[in-house]
Amino acid sequence: MQSLYQSLGIAPRIYTFGAQILAGLEERFKKIDETAEYNQLKVLRAMQKNQVSEACLLGTTGYGYNDLGRDTLEAVYADVFHTEDALVRPQITCGTHALALALMSNLRPGDELLSPVGKPYDTLEEVIGIRPSKGSLAEYGIIYRQVDLLPDGSFDYDKIKDAINETTCLVTIQRSKGYQTRPTLSVERIGELIAFIKQIKPDVLCMVDNCYGEFVETKEPSDVGADMVVGSLIKNPGGGLAPIGGYIAGKKACVENAAYRLTSPGLGKEVGASLGILPAFYQGLFLAPTVTAGALKGAIFAANIYEKLGFAVVPNSTESRHDIIQAVTFGTPEGVVAFCEGIQAAAPVDSHVTPEPWDMPGYDAKVIMAAGAFVSGSSIELSADGPIKPPYAVYFQGGLTWPHAKFGILKSLQSLADKKIVTLPREGW
Ligand SMILES: *Cc1c(COP(=O)(O)O)cnc(C)c1O
Repeated sequence: MQSLYQSLGIAPRIYTFGAQILAGLEERFKKIDETAEYNQLKVLRAMQKNQVSEACLLGTTGYGYNDLGRDTLEAVYADVFHTEDALVRPQITCGTHALALALMSNLRPGDELLSPVGKPYDTLEEVIGIRPSKGSLAEYGIIYRQVDLLPDGSFDYDKIKDAINETTCLVTIQRSKGYQTRPTLSVERIGELIAFIKQIKPDVLCMVDNCYGEFVETKEPSDVGADMVVGSLIKNPGGGLAPIGGYIAGKKACVENAAYRLTSPGLGKEVGASLGILPAFYQGLFLAPTVTAGALKGAIFAANIYEKLGFAVVPNSTESRHDIIQAVTFGTPEGVVAFCEGIQAAAPVDSHVTPEPWDMPGYDAKVIMAAGAFVSGSSIELSADGPIKPPYAVYFQGGLTWPHAKFGILKSLQSLADKKIVTLPREGW
């Protein structure tokens, strides 16, 4: 084993250091495997209950009327998330689109949207109109309010209560921290927040941005009162196989609104050909619980490695996990670049290219991104990125298999060691 690693550029002392770290993670990995087992059975049961058949894997063309595979897949998603209905489509282009669709279709002019967990994900700022943008909710007269989390990461219940009024129609709750420093919300905490909101105003709709959170726990936000859960198929639930797509699972009326907005009033879910994409959606969902488990192990392995080496990591080495993102603060641009070079060099695709920081549209600093993915931009595949600005942190996530996530992290460490940015502790710590 070690010599094979060596032939892929991992020095024996890096390999040994990784092995020592891993020895302390057995218990946590066992828990992750149990969650994967539970979620695997949950997905399997939903597929069997809905009698997924060979015919479901064939696609339709044109209008896509009576697309058995598409309709059955949506029933499977609804059962996995324990919701009344679901919309799962390749015509939903990404996570942002799915979230925009859920919001725009369930809000009307004059309604208020509330985020009780602080600023939402960057791309949602333009959807909502926090940053002025063509076609935003703000342009349609939808009012946005936000209540920030308290400094210790807890909910500001007093301010949330004050913010809810007769026009508050929809509350948006982001599960993952995304690329912020606030903690990721557990499903349990989301449930507490929803219960509090519903007790003040029972008919308000609670939507959860579930991106990066699916299958990390045995429960989903829809199990604790969310009216809609929304996410991207090129993250966890696509299992690495879905090449495009998004989903909205929730109350029948919410999903119906979204369908009429996605296609057209009057048409709704009845149209939308699946072409040849359904095998990837089904098989990806089937693999998603174990793929997510592999990514989660990678995140925990990285947290333990880099914390041991003295870097700040969020979440830390022992914290419970509610999404698959890991942040490591290197404190220097060289650290961020070396880490990303290591991740890139570990990829199955484009391992021979060198990532470089560049001026990406929409960002105020240069950003470096490492990704060698089968599906472009897929962040359930091993990937990392970091803005070249203080505190010089990288965010990394994914890994379709645990061995690949492990290799990628060892490769990042090798890259940092080669550049003398890290020194390994002496033998015998
Ligand atoms: C990725 C992500 C989104 C947006 O998804 P895209 O597919 O990149 O458009 C929204 N919210 C969160 C928390 C995310 O992680």
